[in-house]
Amino acid sequence: MTVAVDQMKCACESCVCIVKPETAIQKNGKYYCSETCANGHPDGSGCGHTGCDCHS
Ligand SMILES: [Zn+2]
Ligand SMILES: [Zn+2]
Ligand SMILES: [Zn+2]
Repeated sequence: MTVAVDQMKCACESCVCIVKPETAIQKNGKYYCSETCANGHPDGSGCGHTGCDCHS
């Protein structure tokens, strides 16, 4: 029996968003809250979630 982890932090370093594996954007085995985070903030904008100002 495996333990299901149903909540985890977005893999983006500066992001504080919590994501669920079933709804997260999955990339390279990591989970992200948004396409923007998954792509490493290519245009320098944040994920757009309230209270989070990650960007990079
Ligand atoms: Zn974020
Ligand atoms: Zn994120
Ligand atoms: Zn991010």
